Amino acid sequence: MPVPFSHVSDAYDVIVIGSGLGGLTSANRLAYCGHKVLLLEYHHKLGGLAAWFKRRGHIFDVSLHGFPFGMVKTCKKYWNREIMNSIVQLKKIVFDNPQFSLQTTFDRQDFTAILNERFRIPQQTIDRFFETVSSMNFYDDRTMTTRELFEQFFPGRTDVHRLLMEPITYANGSTLDDPAITYGIVFSNFMNRGVFTFEGGTDRLIGLMTAELEKNGVTICTRSKVEHIIVEKGRVRGVEVNGRTIAARAVVSNSGITNTIDNLTDHKAFSESFLEKASAIRVNNSSCQVYIGIEKGQHIPDIGDLLFTSTAPEFDSQELLDLHTRSKTFSLYYPKTRPGHNRYTIVASMNSRYEDWKNLTDEQYAGEKRQLIERTISDLDRYLPGVKAKIDWIEAATPRTFNHYTLHTSGTSFGTKFEGLDISRSIFKEVGGLFHVGSVGIIMSGWLGAINYGVIVANDADGYLRSLNG
Ligand SMILES: Cc1cc2nc3c(=O)[nH]c(=O)nc-3n(C[C@H](O)[C@H](O)[C@H](O)COP(=O)(O)OP(=O)(O)OC[C@H]3O[C@@H](n4cnc5c(N)ncnc54)[C@H](O)[C@@H]3O)c2cc1C
Repeated sequence: MPVPFSHVSDAYDVIVIGSGLGGLTSANRLAYCGHKVLLLEYHHKLGGLAAWFKRRGHIFDVSLHGFPFGMVKTCKKYWNREIMNSIVQLKKIVFDNPQFSLQTTFDRQDFTAILNERFRIPQQTIDRFFETVSSMNFYDDRTMTTRELFEQFFPGRTDVHRLLMEPITYANGSTLDDPAITYGIVFSNFMNRGVFTFEGGTDRLIGLMTAELEKNGVTICTRSKVEHIIVEKGRVRGVEVNGRTIAARAVVSNSGITNTIDNLTDHKAFSESFLEKASAIRVNNSSCQVYIGIEKGQHIPDIGDLLFTSTAPEFDSQELLDLHTRSKTFSLYYPKTRPGHNRYTIVASMNSRYEDWKNLTDEQYAGEKRQLIERTISDLDRYLPGVKAKIDWIEAATPRTFNHYTLHTSGTSFGTKFEGLDISRSIFKEVGGLFHVGSVGIIMSGWLGAINYGVIVANDADGYLRSLNG
C-alpha cells in the first residue's frame, strides 16, 4: 500500500517518478536487484494510463483493449506467475466498414486465409509480406514508410491497407507515414498468436503488481507530484517533491520524455545538441473515449470482443483523428472479463487531437462531449439495436482528460513518434544517473512495450548504480 508522504526517508538509491506500467516495472526490477527504491506518483492511484474507475457499480477500464501474446512471457519473467496466468485471448475481433465486414482471431493463420480467400491476394505475396514484417527489427532501415511497404506488396488495395493498418493505428497512433518498422514490429507481435487481455481487469493487475512491489521492498507514495529533478556537476542528486528534497543517486522518470526534459530538469543540465534534437520530438495523438455501463440485470448478446467500426469509405489516418470521426473501436466487457462481477460495460475509443479540444469554451466543450456521446450511442445501436434503453451510465473522456490525469504533453496516449526513442535512450549519457522510461518511439508504447522498456531501463540504471559502488 502507498505510505503517507511523512514516512518517506530523506535518501534512496533510486527514485522512480510515475507509476505507469514502465515506471512500475523499472521500480520492481530495481528493488528486486537489491536497490532502495522510492516510487512517486502524482495521481492517487497507480497505473498511469493503465487506469480504471468506478461508477454506479460499474468498473471501466481505460486502456485494457488488447495486447499481444508476448505479455505472457514478459509477465512470467519480470512479474509473476499469477499475473501471467490471468492473460487470456480475445477470440472474436470484428471489422465492419464500407469496404468489408468480417470476424477474425487476428493471427497470422487467420489473416492469411482472409487475405487469400476473401481479398484474393496470391499466397506467395502473403507469405512474402509476413516474412518481411516479421523479420523487421529495431536496427533496420527507418526510411521506408508503412505506406511504401503496403504499396510494395498490395498496390492500390486500400481495402487490404485498411485491414492491416486500422487496428494498429488504434493500438499505438501510428500512421501510414511513420517508419514501416514501427508497424512491422507491432503488427508481427499481434500476428504471433492474436489479441489478449487481462482477466479480472486493470484494477486486479495493478493490485497484483502493487503486492509484488511491496514484497520487493519498494516504498510507494501517491499524490506526490515531482516538481524538479536536481542535477549537480552533471549528475542526478535527487528530486523536489511536496516541498521536500529527497536525495537519490539515480532517477528514473516515467513522466513523458518531453515533460522530463522541458519541465522537470533544468535545461542547463543538457548539451545544446541534445536539446536541439529533443525539440524536434513530435508527440503522438491523444484519444477520446465513451464509457457505457449496462444496467444491472440487463443482458447483451455476444457481438464480439473488439469491434473496429467505421462508416468512412476508406481508411485514412486523418479521418481517424477528426473531431467528428466516423471511425471508432468498441471494446465489450462481458461478465467473463471480471469473473464474479456480473456486469456488462462497453468502451468506445477514438484517436483524437488535443488541439481540437484545448481551446473550446466550457460550453463548447460540454456540447462536443454531448455530441460525442450521442454519435457513439447511435453507432453502437447498429450492433446492439435498442441499447440506449439498457444504459444506466455513460460519460466521455477527451484529450483534456488524459492531459489532466497523466500530465502528458497534449494528452498523448501513445508517447512520441520514432525520434523520441533515441532521446529517451541517450538521456543518461547527458546526465549521469538520469533515465527515462515510458511510451516513446511507438514500439515502446502499449502495455507490452512499456513493460519491456521498463526492464531495459532498469538494467541500465542497475548497471549505473553498480558502477558507482565500484
Ligand atoms: C485510451 C487509451 C487506450 C489504450 N489502449 C491500449 C491497449 O488496448 N493496449 C495497449 O497495450 N496499450 C493501450 N494504451 C496505451 C498504454 O496504456 C500505454 O502505452 C501505457 O500504459 C503507458 O505506460 P507508461 O509507462 O508510458 O506510463 P503512463 O501510463 O503514461 O504513466 C505515466 C505516469 O507518470 C505520472 N507522472 C507524470 N509526471 C509526474 C510527476 N511530475 N510526478 C509524479 N508522477 C508523474 C503520471 O501521473 C502517470 O501515472 C492505451 C492508451 C490510451 C490512452
